[in-house]
Amino acid sequence: MREAGRVVARVKEKIAEAIGPGVTTLELDRVAEREIRSNGAVPSFKGYTAGGHIPFPASICASVNDEIVHGIPSGRVLEEGDVLSIDVGAIVHGFHGDSAFTVGVGEIDEGAERLIEATRESLRLGIEQARVGARIGDISSAVQEHAESRGYGVVRQYVGHGIGRSMHEAPEVPNYGEPGRGPLLREGMALAIEPMLNVGGWEAVQGDDGWTVVTADGSLSAHFEDTIAISEDGPEVLTALR
Ligand code: MG
Ligand code: MG
Repeated sequence: MREAGRVVARVKEKIAEAIGPGVTTLELDRVAEREIRSNGAVPSFKGYTAGGHIPFPASICASVNDEIVHGIPSGRVLEEGDVLSIDVGAIVHGFHGDSAFTVGVGEIDEGAERLIEATRESLRLGIEQARVGARIGDISSAVQEHAESRGYGVVRQYVGHGIGRSMHEAPEVPNYGEPGRGPLLREGMALAIEPMLNVGGWEAVQGDDGWTVVTADGSLSAHFEDTIAISEDGPEVLTALR
């Protein structure tokens, strides 16, 4: 799991370096796939099918502006001021790492900066709760409280998850909930915690391509995700560069 996390962290760095006005999301996908494979890993997302979806055709999800998650890389040219969410997963020796981040393309407005910062911070606060003896609801409520205190909508239809030999395992890790409720956190558990925050309401709708999920009200959305492991010493973030 640590090795898969390290590869994902490196890939995120490569993608971040390549992001800018004039670049297409398909070009970012090529950068990601090359980096994943050159590290001896396999892209988790490519060919992924779930719930009757068509197989996902790329190594990253690239979701722009009102797109929340699962955007398919394409010839879409990124423009100054766009807000771009990248989600990437890699498999090493059968174990998965899964992580996402949101950045502005060139200069973005203050409202977009604030949304990105609040989403990053709600992930950090959620991770802080991932301790032996705590419960999933402690993570969920920490994310929800921070997001809603700043007036953002927290996406409910899509949630974080356990992770290991499969990308998506039990338990679900919702971004809303009650402290002290839900499954108990134990030593050795690995979770992908992934808040998705909208400037407007929490409602999300599925786009026509069978994958891309957008905000129902067209508002801006941001997404951060890390794969973490729970040890007696606290949460260990596996998908960050160390
Ligand atoms: Mg992900
Ligand atoms: Mg995930």
